[in-house]
Amino acid sequence: MSDDFGPLDPGPRLLLGPGPCDVHPRVLRALAAPLVGHLDPYFITIMGQTQELLRRAFRTSNPLTLPMSATGMGGMETCLVNLLEPDDAIVVCSAGFFGQRLVEVAERTGAKVTPLEKPWGQFFRPDEVRDVLKRVRPKVLAVVQAETSTGVWQPLDELGALCREHDTLLLVDAVTALGCVPVEVDAWGLDAVYSCSQKGLSCPPGLSPVTFGPRALAAMERRRTKVQSWYLDLSIIRRYWGEGAERLYHHTAPITMVYAMREALMVLHEEGLAERWERHSRNAAALRAGFAALGLTLLAPEGYQLPQLSVVRIPEGVADAAVRTRLLREFGIEVGGGLGEFKGRAWRVGLMGYNSRPEVVLQFLGALERCLVSAGGKVTPGCGVAAAEKALAASSA
Ligand SMILES: *Cc1c(COP(=O)(O)O)cnc(C)c1O
Repeated sequence: MSDDFGPLDPGPRLLLGPGPCDVHPRVLRALAAPLVGHLDPYFITIMGQTQELLRRAFRTSNPLTLPMSATGMGGMETCLVNLLEPDDAIVVCSAGFFGQRLVEVAERTGAKVTPLEKPWGQFFRPDEVRDVLKRVRPKVLAVVQAETSTGVWQPLDELGALCREHDTLLLVDAVTALGCVPVEVDAWGLDAVYSCSQKGLSCPPGLSPVTFGPRALAAMERRRTKVQSWYLDLSIIRRYWGEGAERLYHHTAPITMVYAMREALMVLHEEGLAERWERHSRNAAALRAGFAALGLTLLAPEGYQLPQLSVVRIPEGVADAAVRTRLLREFGIEVGGGLGEFKGRAWRVGLMGYNSRPEVVLQFLGALERCLVSAGGKVTPGCGVAAAEKALAASSA
């Protein structure tokens, strides 16, 4: 029977979509380490180290910082169900797919959800946020830092103070941000943040790091009702992750994934956060120089473009599927298609974590040029690669 299925061999890929991205070779090795029990003293040590490394990545001293056994969506749901009770008010800044997701998940808690909507591709200014906070006086304001559907980088540095003025908790989706751009949890006053393992951290999907500050904890302690989800209830999970003397069994931690997360965070801190952010911005500049030379324009406005994810408009007369299919079949390269209103009209190209490297930029642009030409695009082969090389040379000079 098994003979008919053949061996498991996906073949080489370069994952340049919005995630997952390629796993760092050191993380792949960590994934092969022998299993220990989830209450083994060795694993307890690894858990503590992983939490400390996560605090450094999030730039926080929050004791309640841990990886949830879930993907990014599970992190989103964890934050919403723990912070919100029925009839609480939440404002969600929504200018893309993941803003909409926040609205949908928040509605299921029974909270009163006020979406603050803008067209996809835009960001929110502090004065716009101030107006809605004044009007609604919500318990929670939720915002996406790196909107993966549009490539927009939402600034957060002024929102924490605004939320404090209005006695509102600031909840941030940093799923595509952590490990690529600054996520300054303490300095910016972010009260609850969630991320994931498979984007900037270059792990497989499966864990969602979360962190909760003192104001969020106080709100959770004041709850009148139980958290709707038993599995995501942090008041129980905390006791397994080291709060209190006893490690109380909650669920079997995905031990291997915690190894992977710890290794990915070691890689991150050995490089240094500032160096990491700088690397992402340098390689993004080279990629964008290549795009510009090929006549491809970014959806996000200048100054608000994510270095780890570029969303570009598909040129007139070029078929989305023809290019993406050839990229995958011939070059083993995956990029993301557009979401929502940009379906068939945009490509999403990620240079996240391990994949943010000069040789990846050049390899991708070389492949893209060939695919564009064969799909009827009016480009001069070689000019994208040349522009990127020039940008790389200028940034290393
Ligand atoms: C990918 C992503 C998510 C969802 O994460 P999953 O790991 O796919 O569950 C949430 N928010 C943003 C901004 C994302 O990019």
